[in-house]
Amino acid sequence: MGWLGLDDTDSLRGGCTTQVFHDLIEHLPSNVECGVPRLVRLWPFAKRRTRGNAALSIEIISDDESELMRVLESFWNERILPLKGDVLESDISPREQAPTSPGMVWFDQQPDAAIYWAAVRGNVDLEDLPEATRSWGGYGRIGATAAVAWPAENVTWEAIAWRTYDAAGQRRIDETTLSQIDEWEDIVFSRDPRRGTGLIAPRGHSPVLFGIRSLTKASAEIACQTLLASEETEQHDGWRVFCTNQASGDHLQGNHRGQVTATALNAARKHVVISTETFSMISYAEGGEVNALARWLAVGDEIEARGLVHPNGSLHVEQLRVLNPVPRKQRRPLCQTCGVRMKSMGSMQGLRCPTCKQRTDDTWVDVSESPPFDGWTEPPVDARRHLARPLAWSENSVNDKKPT
Ligand SMILES: [Zn+2]
Repeated sequence: MGWLGLDDTDSLRGGCTTQVFHDLIEHLPSNVECGVPRLVRLWPFAKRRTRGNAALSIEIISDDESELMRVLESFWNERILPLKGDVLESDISPREQAPTSPGMVWFDQQPDAAIYWAAVRGNVDLEDLPEATRSWGGYGRIGATAAVAWPAENVTWEAIAWRTYDAAGQRRIDETTLSQIDEWEDIVFSRDPRRGTGLIAPRGHSPVLFGIRSLTKASAEIACQTLLASEETEQHDGWRVFCTNQASGDHLQGNHRGQVTATALNAARKHVVISTETFSMISYAEGGEVNALARWLAVGDEIEARGLVHPNGSLHVEQLRVLNPVPRKQRRPLCQTCGVRMKSMGSMQGLRCPTCKQRTDDTWVDVSESPPFDGWTEPPVDARRHLARPLAWSENSVNDKKPT
């Protein structure tokens, strides 16, 4: 028995890694027993990043390991190797992507979780990897190994269905059924409550028809089957439920606290750069409330932020709150006798209470203004990272289920 991992097979010709992995599982010898397939998201700023940055793994129990290795070897040579070197055209982001460098690993024993934590929180190079029992290919071995090592302590589920080979253009998914499924207790992130639109179809060029996310395996399965059974949903070519680290928050470590020393708004792009004495952060327009709060900040505010530190050193904020705002405005003081706000008598003439006519010197008092949001803010559901854990799920989450 052992663990199989795969990553970086996204390509124009061969589709995405989830589909290649699905295909690989279908091709395994009939005498093996498989665990639950796992889809593992990794550090979004990785140097060798592919779209979505997801790697796959599965536990396989086999009586005949040499037969299993022969099957893996031939699948590698015939189905995966031809994908090598393709540059995936990204119609989502202009960011340059590395040419496909598929990697596959086999471990007799699950490697230590340390390599998963390293790969979900930072950059890992090939030489950092624990030695696999058997390995194939290039940089994809990094994600493949991390996916195998994932301890799956904090999981959600995703049922993925793929389009047929000749499908093109707009995806046809039964929106009415989806809106009903969205009401199910365990189904998460399937619709955008602000816009009333589905969030299960990938944007742009992908063989994935949809991915429906859930807190339980059973709900993911039933939701997927229900959607596929509808005549309003287009034909599909296979589906599978994956155990995932999505919404685990595993990519974040620790909170950043500081006092704002400078703010800079990029008016055209609406992002904000906030400097504090301890860290500097950037908040993008897509951040919704996070961005609105970041734009409200003034020098002197004490803030706390969570996010990923980009290799250039800046924190890409994902969650933000104000601990202690500086006063924003100044007003005339209240009358000490009757509590009415004093009024100016004119330049250099002091203040007078409009009720009791008491007079004082010409003074101002600081007035606090509440931040536009109390407590932590997060981006709207359609703008969050796959790994982002919703604030509504408390620190000790409701879904600490382990894959069965
Ligand atoms: Zn008064």
